[in-house]
Amino acid sequence: MDASWYVLLALLLGFAIGAVSVHLLGVAAQRGRQVMAISSEPVPDGIAAMVHVLESAGIVLDGSNQVILSSPGAVALDLVDGRALRSPEILDAVRRVWRSGEQEVLELVYRRGRIGVGTEIHLRVRVAPLGNRFMLVLAADRTEEMRLDGVRRDFVANVSHELKTPIGAISVLSEAIEAAAADPERVRSFAQRMQLEADRLARMTKALIDLSRIQSDDPLDHAERVPIARVVEVAVDRNRVLAESKRMRVLPRVLDEVDVLGSEELITMAVQNLVANAVQYSPEATHVGIGVRAADGIVEIAVTDNGVGIAPEDLERVFERFYRVDPARSRVTGGTGIGLSIVKHVAASHGGEITLWSRPDQGSTFTLRLPIAGTTAPKEKA
Ligand code: ADP
Repeated sequence: MDASWYVLLALLLGFAIGAVSVHLLGVAAQRGRQVMAISSEPVPDGIAAMVHVLESAGIVLDGSNQVILSSPGAVALDLVDGRALRSPEILDAVRRVWRSGEQEVLELVYRRGRIGVGTEIHLRVRVAPLGNRFMLVLAADRTEEMRLDGVRRDFVANVSHELKTPIGAISVLSEAIEAAAADPERVRSFAQRMQLEADRLARMTKALIDLSRIQSDDPLDHAERVPIARVVEVAVDRNRVLAESKRMRVLPRVLDEVDVLGSEELITMAVQNLVANAVQYSPEATHVGIGVRAADGIVEIAVTDNGVGIAPEDLERVFERFYRVDPARSRVTGGTGIGLSIVKHVAASHGGEITLWSRPDQGSTFTLRLPIAGTTAPKEKA
């Protein structure tokens, strides 16, 4: 073969290789375009905007269950990891909905966070097809709602238990009176006990009404200037009979005369409860002190007694509704177990707090701390 043939052959071979390469590159590019089209298929108009304004978490998935849109809420709840859903339960639901075409609602406990055990949150998740190419996942955080439900359930259970006791006692005593009709002495004794239980029931109902009123009302909505010196005076006065019955003296010492903003009735009720407890839980013929002093924009009303005191393990719990360190003793004194939860609520709703120092057999100091009402700047002399 002469040289010109070799050249022609080489040219043909080169051309063939080039053509095959160009074809292969074309095929690869087309495949690539298809993949792009699947994963970034345009989401119908309006859906992206809708997902971004959703209050609950919203996620849109494509046909291969890849996340193509997620709302800020979904990110905050940590539901997506790149383009994947983090929760296997939600992914399973998505697969079921693809098969059935019917939307699904599921309740699940989800662990947010990737380090350690994470925070447990309760989610209500709705999975629904969005046309036939996308899937919408909506998730609402129900953790707080569930917690409040629990608090409400406990409260109702506690109230019914607390009310049942005196009601049951009244019923038993009335039967006893009937049976002892011929014996005036016993009738009198049963009737007296019945009166005690009825009083207890009345106090409990009043305390519950007070508590629910405080919880539903914001005292700062219709706040007035409340002089603390007057609050202390009235609180002491309302406990005078109780203190005298135990030969006790309540000694107020108001070092600073200041006002706070809020409800005079509620603040007085709080201080009155603290003084009543100080008297109730102290031996006869002891003293109760009330000190008022102001510093750094805060007024402290400290009620101190030399009574039975509270053990360290009960210090936090005494502010819970219906919690009593010694239920039997509290029954004798006519306690409702609600007084301190009222104090705690009044403190919190006035932007303050209640603190407690106590030692068993030594006594207790409850300190109500409230922000002082701002004083108007003194007028400049002309
Ligand atoms: P109660 O009506 O039973 O007094 P409170 O909510 O006012 O209910 O108080 C809850 C519990 O805290 C009381 O039952 C008592 O055990 C304890 N407690 C409150 N104040 C004092 C105090 N000054 N000294 C000792 N224990 C107290």
